[in-house]
Amino acid sequence: MASRLLLQNLSKRHLLRSTFASRSASTLVLAEHEGGSIKAQSLSAVVAANSLSQDNPVSLLLAGSGSSLHQAAEKAATCHPSISQVLVADSEKFAYPLAEPWAKLIQLVQLKGDYSHVIATSDSFGKNILPRAAALLDVSPVTDVVDINGPRQFIRPIYAGNALCTVRYTGANPCMLTVRSTSFPVRPISVDSKSGGASISEVDLSTLDEDSVGKSRFMKLSSQDTGRPDLGSAKIVVTGGRALKSAENFKMIEKLAEKLGAAVGATRAAVDAGFVPNDLQVGQTGKIVAPELYMAFGVSGAIQHLAGMKDSKIIVAVNKDSDAPIFQVADYGLVGDLFEVIPELLEKLPEKK
Ligand SMILES: Cc1cc2nc3c(=O)[nH]c(=O)nc-3n(C[C@H](O)[C@H](O)[C@H](O)COP(=O)(O)OP(=O)(O)OC[C@H]3O[C@@H](n4cnc5c(N)ncnc54)[C@H](O)[C@@H]3O)c2cc1C
Repeated sequence: MASRLLLQNLSKRHLLRSTFASRSASTLVLAEHEGGSIKAQSLSAVVAANSLSQDNPVSLLLAGSGSSLHQAAEKAATCHPSISQVLVADSEKFAYPLAEPWAKLIQLVQLKGDYSHVIATSDSFGKNILPRAAALLDVSPVTDVVDINGPRQFIRPIYAGNALCTVRYTGANPCMLTVRSTSFPVRPISVDSKSGGASISEVDLSTLDEDSVGKSRFMKLSSQDTGRPDLGSAKIVVTGGRALKSAENFKMIEKLAEKLGAAVGATRAAVDAGFVPNDLQVGQTGKIVAPELYMAFGVSGAIQHLAGMKDSKIIVAVNKDSDAPIFQVADYGLVGDLFEVIPELLEKLPEKK
């Protein structure tokens, strides 16, 4: 697949051409739902679609099977004013987010709707499906977008977030993007109740071929019901690093998170050492978070970790090494031993009501 991305310094002629293209923008947003509601991260993709151009009707694609899918579609139709229609693909093939059938679905919907843009969030759901759909449509996706300068000009991090790169998409439609949900925060918006919200239509799946099921099979989903908020969207994240030394000690981080109503995060070193499962990893190869408050205990602040949390609103770091790089991004830093600081915090903080 030929790359159709050019780095900056393109001629003004390109700029004029892409500005013209913006007038006929229409966007397909691939959304994820759970328990009868569309996930908050997916709404960030709708916010990103709004930044492409003012006149940009958004179609939201929801797939799955059963009543929770239809419940999510009802809710999605009234959750954001820029959603003009909700497309529902109801089939057992989409009961689990396997990339093969979902990519075929996007191809089918795109061929019918001729959208100028297709957007998904840059989480494991979007990162799994969108590149495969892009390959089927023979276009190059632009991934990890953190800002949008126009319908075809995007900003994305490179070198583990050490530099920002401006890229212009010069390929054919659709321009396919994955966007970082932390860069497109969703503000509460009320939808005009008189308008009744977006229309809901079923996707005609009769032309979806049988081999769209693909070679991969869903085996099982294992998740821990910790009762804590989701790491990707929590307002407070408490993270522990290698300095915790053991899974047993890491429980201090979990207790602190419980008291604060926070999600638990970990560095890759803590994950590799087996203190916690890898779905708690924050960083370049983990989750990207930007909570109101990020508390890092015994975290050195390696660039790959910073790539996942440096956009947090307030960063608090506790480290016994005053030269630890984490202090360069911290708003509040405490040079101290976490084995003294955390017990003191646990003692002084009131129990969560
Ligand atoms: C391609 C690639 C991708 C990567 N992706 C990620 C990623 O997504 N996320 C990630 O986190 N890392 C990632 N890493 C690893 C990263 O480079 C670091 O190795 C890792 O983040 C270090 O974790 P740490 O801070 O827990 O451990 P260390 O670097 O060992 O730091 C431990 C810190 O704890 C402090 N400390 C020790 N004892 C105490 C104490 N008692 N009290 C207080 N402080 C104490 C030390 O001073 C030190 O600063 C990646 C690396 C590569 C090469």
